[in-house]
Amino acid sequence: MTDEDLRIEVTSWLAAHWTGLPAHHESFGRDPRSAWLAQVRDAGWAVPRWPAEWHGRGLSDAQARIVERTFAEAGAPGAGQDRTNLWANTALAYATEPFKRVIVPQLLAGEVGMCLLYSEPGAGSDLAAVRTRADRVPGGWRVTGQKVWTSGAAVADYGMLIARTDWDAPKHRGISFFFLPMRQPGVTVRPLRQITDETHFNEVFLDDALVPEENLLGPLHGGWRVLQTALAYERSVMGDSARGPRSGAGGPKGDHAMIALAREVGRLADPVIRQDLAQVVAWRVLNRLNTERAKAELAQGTSSPIMSLGKLAMSRILHEEARLRTRLLGPESLLEGPDHPRAEDANFLSLNAYFTSIGGGTDQIQRNIIGERVLGLPKEPETDRTISFREVRAG
Ligand SMILES: Cc1cc2nc3c(=O)[nH]c(=O)nc-3n(C[C@H](O)[C@H](O)[C@H](O)COP(=O)(O)OP(=O)(O)OC[C@H]3O[C@@H](n4cnc5c(N)ncnc54)[C@H](O)[C@@H]3O)c2cc1C
Repeated sequence: MTDEDLRIEVTSWLAAHWTGLPAHHESFGRDPRSAWLAQVRDAGWAVPRWPAEWHGRGLSDAQARIVERTFAEAGAPGAGQDRTNLWANTALAYATEPFKRVIVPQLLAGEVGMCLLYSEPGAGSDLAAVRTRADRVPGGWRVTGQKVWTSGAAVADYGMLIARTDWDAPKHRGISFFFLPMRQPGVTVRPLRQITDETHFNEVFLDDALVPEENLLGPLHGGWRVLQTALAYERSVMGDSARGPRSGAGGPKGDHAMIALAREVGRLADPVIRQDLAQVVAWRVLNRLNTERAKAELAQGTSSPIMSLGKLAMSRILHEEARLRTRLLGPESLLEGPDHPRAEDANFLSLNAYFTSIGGGTDQIQRNIIGERVLGLPKEPETDRTISFREVRAG
């Protein structure tokens, strides 16, 4: 099939099926657009690079991009999840055959809500220090421990969980990776209030919660590798996109939003403002190109450390844009409430920039990864890397 044939096929499929949906969607819980997403999946557009057996069309990367572009031009969501859906990509790569058959189609249609059960009160940047335990029982594992900062847990059907299954092995080698069913006795979720006054993340208490046998991903005790793949996808998504203003207001997005605001407040001709605008726009363009490079590597089955570059860059971009917004508004940025939407947006974006600089691994951790795995600098000393986890001293 030529590129032009493909473009015509996608365009006519969209003309026959796409009737429009609300653009805004909270990224937690089951996706209210799942009826549409199921149609996209069944037509093979959700994951065009994957084989037909897995709801794809076996297209090359270049042709898959034509599909994504044509969907984007129509404003239709759901295409190109083979690059962006961290849950489905992780499941396809590592889940057991029976579980994969059930979960992958549901994930592609957003029919299940998901969360990430990684961080614990004593394990954040140092995730290999997790102390949540999964003990073997007939038919699966029983899980006990505490997770924290779990985005979307209150409305999740499954959590991607890391838990310790071997306490005698060194810390990175005794962890396993599971899909934990969240709606069961033994899982208690308590919301936490964030600096933005939202309650997206939660504490999760696990008391003898059951994970069925087939919900193990990758080898038993081999969860660290699965985690690296899942984290790389998460960082790539965070490096590629970020939440806009909470108001979800229409109007210009990304670079154009900043330029439009400068024009609105009469500062577009100010040479210093122009220089700062050009700087953030240039960073965004560079970041887009870098993210493309990293995703191409990931498509070849490596967990790319370049993802860390993209996420770190996005964190810097968001903080700089928030600062610039505040400068553009001047004293107006001190106001709040529905009568002052520009100030509301500026303040929300200033606070929410921390989502990208902490969630998915902090800026400092991304710098360590870039130093060690991209620039080849010496590794940080780790005295507990090779000893049994039982002997690791915890504060
Ligand atoms: C909005 C948001 C959503 C989140 N969602 C989830 C989620 O869904 N699931 C989940 O599991 N977690 C989630 N997290 C948790 C997040 O992954 C952790 O907060 C993060 O990894 C940092 O861990 P910590 O909070 O324990 O901080 P710590 O690891 O205690 O770090 C404290 C400080 O020390 C620095 N530091 C630590 N170690 C090093 C080092 N080796 N070198 C240099 N500096 C270092 C850190 O950069 C940080 O500034 C979320 C966090 C946020 C903010």
